[in-house]
Amino acid sequence: MTDLSALPPTSAGAGCDERPVLRERGQREVFCGLTAIVWLHRKMQDAFFLVVGSRTCAHLLQSAAGVMIFAEPRFGTAILGDRDLAGLADANDELDRLCVSLLERRPDVSTLFLVGSCPSEVIKLDLAKAAERLNAQLRPRVRVVNFSGSGIETTFTQGEDNALKCLVPEMPASNERQLLVVGGLADVIEDQFVRVFDALGIGPVNFLPARRAGTLPAVGPGTVMLPAQPFVGDTVRMLQDRGAQLLSAPYPLGAEGTTEWFRAAAKAWGVSPERFDEVTAPLIARAKAGIERHRARLEGKSLFMLPDSQLEIPLARFLQREAGMNLLEIGTPYLDRRMISTELAWLPASTVVSEGQDVERQLDRLRTAQPDLTVCGLGLANPLEAEGFATKWSIELVFTPIQGYDQAGDLAELFARPLERRARLAA
Ligand code: SF4
Repeated sequence: MTDLSALPPTSAGAGCDERPVLRERGQREVFCGLTAIVWLHRKMQDAFFLVVGSRTCAHLLQSAAGVMIFAEPRFGTAILGDRDLAGLADANDELDRLCVSLLERRPDVSTLFLVGSCPSEVIKLDLAKAAERLNAQLRPRVRVVNFSGSGIETTFTQGEDNALKCLVPEMPASNERQLLVVGGLADVIEDQFVRVFDALGIGPVNFLPARRAGTLPAVGPGTVMLPAQPFVGDTVRMLQDRGAQLLSAPYPLGAEGTTEWFRAAAKAWGVSPERFDEVTAPLIARAKAGIERHRARLEGKSLFMLPDSQLEIPLARFLQREAGMNLLEIGTPYLDRRMISTELAWLPASTVVSEGQDVERQLDRLRTAQPDLTVCGLGLANPLEAEGFATKWSIELVFTPIQGYDQAGDLAELFARPLERRARLAA
């Protein structure tokens, strides 16, 4: 009952790592990487994210994070004016002045992220050099790092990968054996995971990103990495270059994914199968009961996912294997096979997996398929609802705590709700 690894993979999905993938390169409807600041600034409570960009960038951040009103927000936008864009003012001097005065006012900030945008890239403002200049002036009190969240280079969750990448060279070296969980998790989930690792006798466990950006975990040959998010592939590669070992596992979504995720760590730490079952059995039972409450609404319903957050494949796996949904097409902006191979092998062979986007062609396929539920970005949801499709905003899946056992029922409910609403409207 508790050994979910003993479950047979869906017959069609067994060993299909080499499955064909539909690759499209056309117009795409995806948020830029700046959006990641919305959850990263909540996670790292001593960090400040300064976007060097335009009013558009400021509006995007404000509206994405605007529901939260902070007396002292930990993000902001240094708006490049016409004189900066025309090269009439020295944007470097102004940026340095702005950062120094910001940090004087905010003694609580230990890490300043300078975040590049489309405009800063177009005028070739060198934020790496700016970080170097500011570090010479401000360290050790404040560490200044930089990454790009520009829509030219990044989509949505890639912003987190870029932010974490710029922290890796800053991590101290250590040979100590430790588990490093890579990818941002809400604090409530992190606390739950720590309790399970403790009960299994796995430790020390560190997280990247940590709650305090100023105290980074160490890394070295004793580090064993367990990614919690599929979109941190470049960060994982950089940590491997520093000696860390990567555990291959599905992602902790649903009872099955969470169990296999913990099992990967338990095997690496030599935890006995009996102890593993003893710790996880009540948690699995609770998660299954939570999912069961929504299964009737989801079972047999067809699903089409448009690319957005890179969480699509693990979510689809959960919805098919644990909630009985029928997967039509699952789109993802990028397919990093090294990060997703376990998940990919669990999808039925009949499901179309697509990478990238040519939005009009994809919408044609969607209209032909007539799914019961479509998961897509905000920009497409309203027009599709007007056409009669039930939709789910993919952004909600990134902003809501969905990982782990205690959230498995809530995760199923997130997909059941739009079907419920549509059923009520039709009644
Ligand atoms: S970074 Fe580019 S895509 Fe993102 S809000 Fe700014 S201008 Fe728009």
